[in-house]
Amino acid sequence: MVKLNGKPVYKGIAIGPVVVLKKDGQQVRRSRVEDPDSEAARVDEAVKTAQEQLQILYDKAVKEVGEGSAAIFEVHQMMLEDEDYLEAINNMIRTEQVNAEYAVAVTGDNFAEMFAGMDDDYMKARAADVKDISNRLIRCLSGEGGNDLNFTEPSIIVADDLSPSETVQMDKEKILAFVTVHGSSNSHTSILARMMNIPALIGVPLDLDQIQSGMKAVVDGIQGEVIFEPDEAVCEEANSKIEKEKEKLRLLQELKGKENVTLSGKKINVYANIGGVGDVGYVLENDAGGIGLFRSEFLYLGRDDFPTEEEQFQAYRQVLQTMGEKKVIIRTLDIGADKQVDYFNLGKEDNPALGYRAIRICLKQPDIFKTQLRALLRAAVYGNLSIMYPMITSTEEVAKIYEIVAEVKKELEEQEIPFKDPEQGIMIETPAAVMISDKLAQMVDFFSIGTNDLTQYTLAIDRQNERLDDFYNPHHEAVLRMIQMVVDSAHKYGKWAGICGELGGDLELTETFVKMGIDELSVSPSIILQLRERIRSID
Ligand code: PEP
Ligand code: MG
Repeated sequence: MVKLNGKPVYKGIAIGPVVVLKKDGQQVRRSRVEDPDSEAARVDEAVKTAQEQLQILYDKAVKEVGEGSAAIFEVHQMMLEDEDYLEAINNMIRTEQVNAEYAVAVTGDNFAEMFAGMDDDYMKARAADVKDISNRLIRCLSGEGGNDLNFTEPSIIVADDLSPSETVQMDKEKILAFVTVHGSSNSHTSILARMMNIPALIGVPLDLDQIQSGMKAVVDGIQGEVIFEPDEAVCEEANSKIEKEKEKLRLLQELKGKENVTLSGKKINVYANIGGVGDVGYVLENDAGGIGLFRSEFLYLGRDDFPTEEEQFQAYRQVLQTMGEKKVIIRTLDIGADKQVDYFNLGKEDNPALGYRAIRICLKQPDIFKTQLRALLRAAVYGNLSIMYPMITSTEEVAKIYEIVAEVKKELEEQEIPFKDPEQGIMIETPAAVMISDKLAQMVDFFSIGTNDLTQYTLAIDRQNERLDDFYNPHHEAVLRMIQMVVDSAHKYGKWAGICGELGGDLELTETFVKMGIDELSVSPSIILQLRERIRSID
């Protein structure tokens, strides 16, 4: 039994088998083999397993995102049949008498380099695919990670760190808990864990080589500990805690259908934050009044190319139709910083949080922006949509956005494509936007305060840097005063103001926010009912 402590991100309890995720290419060492035949046979076996995995991924992707986006897995299957590639691996094993993992890694690198050097853009882009299939083969050879990010049974995910794009690719039904060595509690991976109600511990001093997939573990997000190979007594205690948690949740269910109203009669809109179409179930299950933040950039993560207008339209329409008359606020893409996507070719930046991201990309590359806006305006016909723009710092940016929206509307009109004019609001997440919120309030329909970034930019503390977690204080007086200022500016011009950053779900501050006059709080679906309980207790 090994017990380790970490920082809880979501306070649940889980018990189950572990899946260790190791980063691609992290492990490959060269070693000499005595029996090249059996090494070559291992490669054949790994190719078979990889083909099966890709077939499963293809079938899943066809169902979830359509044939166009699933095609990449078919391409990978074809590449795995490529004779030149397989022969190169085989030759290397035999002539240099090296282990299969090493031969695959080196061959993968050589082929990727060859593709990258070609003139044709399509062939150039295949370099990443060769690397991908080589990494898959290596994982199959070393028996790690099961079927990639798609496990067959519900498991506790143990990893060095997880990126948002890795997290979104996982089948949420199969994740019992996250345990990571690194990560900060304000990162998007932590936000995702909270959104999915998944117990998560970060900053756990683990040696991943000591943990094997299949081991049993207990993750206690209340105590902030993980216990590998727990004994009978620990398992019993964990199971009884799980039962108690369930009971608490059951009691909260009684608040469903009730209003979010204080004892003195002030009503607050309590909405939910989501990352994708698949999260709408959590929203309804927890009786949210609407969706206050749909992080649309998650549609762009974990894939090889931009989502088309049609794919986006289908996703937005589905969310809007499912929510019926309830408000759905979709934020335009907030790519950049920790949400990196290869095909955006953003390049390396010294200060990505202060860099080319979010609305800046949209204004500099309006084609990307217009595709999303077209999909949004078309989808607006099917429900109660509001659009929200992230990372605003100036009135000029808002004016420029409106120009682009007007162009999109004109194009849709000319093409006789039905659309609707949605409400348009902005995120207030930079100190600049706070300071000019009186001017901005005259241009938009609403404000939603992004306290995650507002804290980062106000305190000059990188929200991703785990070493700064102790300094990252969203309760800082400067942040609270800014929130008050934004609410006042909005109300002065008859607009509403809400909070969609994680602070909105901080029950210690609910009373403060109500006193400030906040109109809406948009939180993780798992917090909705707790927040309702809190609001109903405030006098
Ligand atoms: C925020 O910054 O508070 C916010 C809601 O946006 P994100 O966390 O996606 O940056
Ligand atoms: Mg933000």
